[in-house]
Amino acid sequence: STQGVSSAASDVYKRQIMLGAPGAGKGTHAGKISEKYGIPHISTGDIFRENIKNGTELGKKAKGYMDAGELVPDELTCDLVVDRIHQDDAKNGYVLDGFPRTIPQAEALTKALAATGEKVDYAIEINLDDQVIIDRMSGRRVCSCGATYHIVNIPPKKEGICDKCGKELVIRKDDEPETVKKRLEVYHEQTAPLIDYYKNEGILRVIDGTTGLEQGFQDICAILDQK
Ligand code: AMP
Repeated sequence: STQGVSSAASDVYKRQIMLGAPGAGKGTHAGKISEKYGIPHISTGDIFRENIKNGTELGKKAKGYMDAGELVPDELTCDLVVDRIHQDDAKNGYVLDGFPRTIPQAEALTKALAATGEKVDYAIEINLDDQVIIDRMSGRRVCSCGATYHIVNIPPKKEGICDKCGKELVIRKDDEPETVKKRLEVYHEQTAPLIDYYKNEGILRVIDGTTGLEQGFQDICAILDQK
């Protein structure tokens, strides 16, 4: 059934979660996984930012939390993701980026999947020290088309301009230094416990976030290709 689909084996690579602190490279790697394996990249942060841009009710509710570096409440987040993973393009799998971020979110996901006899295949943690994170986030630049750059690690071809669509790059509001500090605190308190959660489920895989994008992506592919 997967004839003609060389590396994107739809029966093989299924449901992945990216774990790691903000700025660890979850979004970048999730984008590359999505491209290589032909599964959608589902980023709750992107979904919230899109809603803010479009002025939706959800966007209005989420904005205050995001600007403060806090988590959007689980009630606003879980149903949204459960709906998203049940859409047609996600039936052969997906890579979740930025969700789950709390134990109750992980439990909601497990429960939603169990209802149809499914489960997460791998939770991939990108491991990185806080200081490296702080340095990285200060260099992050984003485009409204969703592309992400770093002034040193992933520079655009032309300074300040998106390679993909030519628009001007900006600093995400929640990448300001004070907010970064807050987001790291929130990460350690609320999200890091997921590492043990998925370790207990036997599906945690850890990659070293310091080795560079290319090596990191090779490490991830080695994990996914083992299956
Ligand atoms: P991200 O782009 O993943 O770094 O997310 C940016 C911000 O969106 C976070 O700091 C949170 O305020 C919010 N957010 C994204 N995903 C979630 C989630 N799963 N639960 C709660 N808040 C989230």
